[in-house]
Amino acid sequence: MSNGKNPHVVVIGGGPAGATVSTLIAQQGYDVELFEREKFPRYHIGESLIPETYWVLKRLGMLEKMKRSPFIKKHSVQFVNASGKQSAPFYFYDNKPHECSQTWQIRRSEFDTMMLRNAESQGVKVHEGARVLDVILEGERAVGIQVVTENGETRTVRADVVVDASGQSSLLINKFKLRVSDPVLNKGVLWSYFEGAYRDTGKDEGATIVLSLQNKQGWFWYIPMQDNIVSVGVVADFEYLFKGRENHETTYAEEMENCPAVIERVSMGKKIAPVKATKDYTYRASRATGDGWVLVGDAFGFLDPLYSSGVLLALKSGELAADAIVEGLQNGDTSQKQLGKWEEGYVEGMNRMRRLVCEYYDGFSFGNFVRRFPQHRGSITDLLVGDLFKKELDQVFEDIDNLKLEATVEQ
Ligand SMILES: Cc1cc2nc3c(=O)[nH]c(=O)nc-3n(C[C@H](O)[C@H](O)[C@H](O)COP(=O)(O)OP(=O)(O)OC[C@H]3O[C@@H](n4cnc5c(N)ncnc54)[C@H](O)[C@@H]3O)c2cc1C
Repeated sequence: MSNGKNPHVVVIGGGPAGATVSTLIAQQGYDVELFEREKFPRYHIGESLIPETYWVLKRLGMLEKMKRSPFIKKHSVQFVNASGKQSAPFYFYDNKPHECSQTWQIRRSEFDTMMLRNAESQGVKVHEGARVLDVILEGERAVGIQVVTENGETRTVRADVVVDASGQSSLLINKFKLRVSDPVLNKGVLWSYFEGAYRDTGKDEGATIVLSLQNKQGWFWYIPMQDNIVSVGVVADFEYLFKGRENHETTYAEEMENCPAVIERVSMGKKIAPVKATKDYTYRASRATGDGWVLVGDAFGFLDPLYSSGVLLALKSGELAADAIVEGLQNGDTSQKQLGKWEEGYVEGMNRMRRLVCEYYDGFSFGNFVRRFPQHRGSITDLLVGDLFKKELDQVFEDIDNLKLEATVEQ
């Protein structure tokens, strides 16, 4: 237990997952110290939220701040297929007539700073410019961290629970060798930003658009943001995007040519940033918890960004982990059994989102599916908005399998 000097919980990383878990624990009166290696604001990709973030943002006390923010309101998602045919916007409100169905396109440097300041305002002790070097173990149990503080001093901080929210740096995945790469979603990404590019008006201004490449090898995201900026990125198989290509800038330009619906939209604006790249990034840790330690957000696992699920998963794992940690601190039990109470249900939810992503890459038609099984329209929407954590959704996947079987039999 905290001895007055040591916090109950230390958190590594101040992104959305770290800010969430620390705020919710501090709200229950426990001492939390968070160590973030950067000074905020700092750049980050991951700009489109999905509606189910609403409920965690509400618990964090972030909703009013979001409503007052300059972030563009997002009401829908829209798909453009390989031949350029555009679906009608898919409005979240039609499925759930509640204010949670309006979400936001965020500039992450601003959103993450708001989240971190919000954590601070609720009692979390935040250290920026403080890089965690290692997690200290006694036997198998995590008992603290070693950190280099802003003034270059190396400190040891002991705590009852260590939460790793270090994002794709994955401090503990590396230390414990827990990384499992996804055998199917072996993708890469190239992205940049445009100013003055096409944007819809009114309710559709903030729609995320997912546009298939003409050759069906991948897809573009088109995310309208504040200050007349649009985030535009292409996702495709790693080999396709990076092997035998000249450089990222030319590949990006070539893939735009391969997607006339994107060219049409960006041609009225100008590209304002060099192309950035990420490779081979879908992975999962083989476990999320141990005695005295917990992984949340990307530090546990990351899923292809097709349905913009990353920040939701960061918030949700932060929330579930915080509840298990608080209960453990109340009962004096910070064993893996206690800290891992949320793990199974969370992984099931993540797997449902993964399955949906894989179906898209497999060429599965959601339109055909819903026409054949109209009773699943609501469940498909639940999955798309991130309402993933309920077992009854699995019926959808059983019927997707049935439909595939029917198609095979007919051939
Ligand atoms: C190409 C791409 C597109 C994406 N698009 C979307 C999208 O549209 N919508 C969406 O919701 N998500 C998207 N994501 C996913 C999203 O970016 C992440 O899932 C999300 O940022 C995870 O939050 P996090 O808090 O776990 O990690 P992060 O936001 O990465 O935060 C981790 C923090 O830990 C700090 N840190 C790391 N190591 C240390 C250390 N040793 N000591 C101290 N601090 C440390 C880092 O500086 C960082 O601030 C996308 C991701 C990619 C790669």
